[in-house]
Amino acid sequence: MNKQNLPDRYAPNTPFHPASFADFLPTEQLRQIQSQRLRHTVRRAYEHVRFYRDRMDKRGLTPEDIRSVEDISKFSFTVKNDLRDTYPFGLFASPMEEIVRLHASSGTTGKPIVVAYTQQDIEVWKEVVKRAFLAYGLHRRDIIQVAYGYGLFTGGLGAHYGAEALGATVIPISGGNTERQIMLMRDFGATAICCTPSYFLHLIGRAEEMGIDLHDLPIRAGAFGAEPWTDEMRQRIEESSGIKAYNIYGLSEIIGPGVAAECHCQEGLHIFEDHFYPEIINPDTGEVLPDGTPGELVLTTLSKEAMPMLRYRTRDLTMIMTEPCACGRTIRRIRRIVARSDDMFIIRGVNVFPSQIEAALLSIKEALPHYQIVLTREKGLDQIEVQIEVSSESANDDRVRVVEDLRDRIAMAIKETINIRVKVTLKQPNTLPRSEGKIQRVIDQRQL
Ligand SMILES: [Zn+2]
Repeated sequence: MNKQNLPDRYAPNTPFHPASFADFLPTEQLRQIQSQRLRHTVRRAYEHVRFYRDRMDKRGLTPEDIRSVEDISKFSFTVKNDLRDTYPFGLFASPMEEIVRLHASSGTTGKPIVVAYTQQDIEVWKEVVKRAFLAYGLHRRDIIQVAYGYGLFTGGLGAHYGAEALGATVIPISGGNTERQIMLMRDFGATAICCTPSYFLHLIGRAEEMGIDLHDLPIRAGAFGAEPWTDEMRQRIEESSGIKAYNIYGLSEIIGPGVAAECHCQEGLHIFEDHFYPEIINPDTGEVLPDGTPGELVLTTLSKEAMPMLRYRTRDLTMIMTEPCACGRTIRRIRRIVARSDDMFIIRGVNVFPSQIEAALLSIKEALPHYQIVLTREKGLDQIEVQIEVSSESANDDRVRVVEDLRDRIAMAIKETINIRVKVTLKQPNTLPRSEGKIQRVIDQRQL
């Protein structure tokens, strides 16, 4: 089946699906719902979680002091370490018999972060992921391949339950086993896929090797998240597969995937703010910033029962967009997240985000979307090397001048972005490591 002559049932769904009702509420009504839910959440947190009660007592705050979302800044922030310090169940507001699910983060060092859901929390989670799929134009006749990992990671089961709630057909294939993914995608006629953008790139490459062009398959949309990626990367994905690549955003501490999602306009992600209240702060001072100003995203859960989160610092850098979206949704949008403060590295005193390098690299057409950043220290001086795969014609061009020119153009593009001259190493296609989950872009060997 070719995408050019798809039957009508593949036409984008009307955005005014009943399940998306909350996306289109008048702002005043939305604020009322948020305020009412916040009051309820604060009372629950105060009464059932010692951590929050102690903090509020310390500030002389009682649940009655919180009348509306305007009062939210009276709370102190919650940070990732608070979850570690209360490991495993210290932030639960429900007794274990009401908790139906636990998830945990993979945690690079030490204890993981544990999160919990009541049945009602699962219902909310299903609803927001379903609203994300609807915003992409997916519907019950879609066949959704869930290639996020299943297990303690929230990606797989989160997408799975949302896709089922939509009424779509789910292929719960989980991550990895790429050739089988491609075979089933073709044989089952999957129309959408959920995975990390880096894994989908890997999948496109593998399909090519198997003689399969994704343009010829029914697949038409991807819900990509769990790692930062740039608009330049989106272009590459869309061009090489013929699908629409949509952002999905979420984090386990808040609920998992489904905190925010793009609509068909692909200009920023709508936050499902009837359930997750967003603020943007200055990451250095904690000062709340007005909409339209970049800073760190802070989220408060408004309906979570098992584990309410008050003013959780996500460490994701973005801003709340001020203009209304062409799709008509009234819930606010955040700009796509291309930077996490955790991903930033400092090289010769300059703050650099991998996404800045990604955007510069992919502005060069011979550069393939597979790269790695290696940091080393030589004689006390930080060195940065960018390894990038280039098309085989470029990599195998026997004219030295052509290869050097390409290397120079890439180095210049990066210098224009981060103001540092980096060493560029051109690689043959398929020589850098691929990821089956979240990809590691930066190899920092300076500590070794
Ligand atoms: Zn929109």
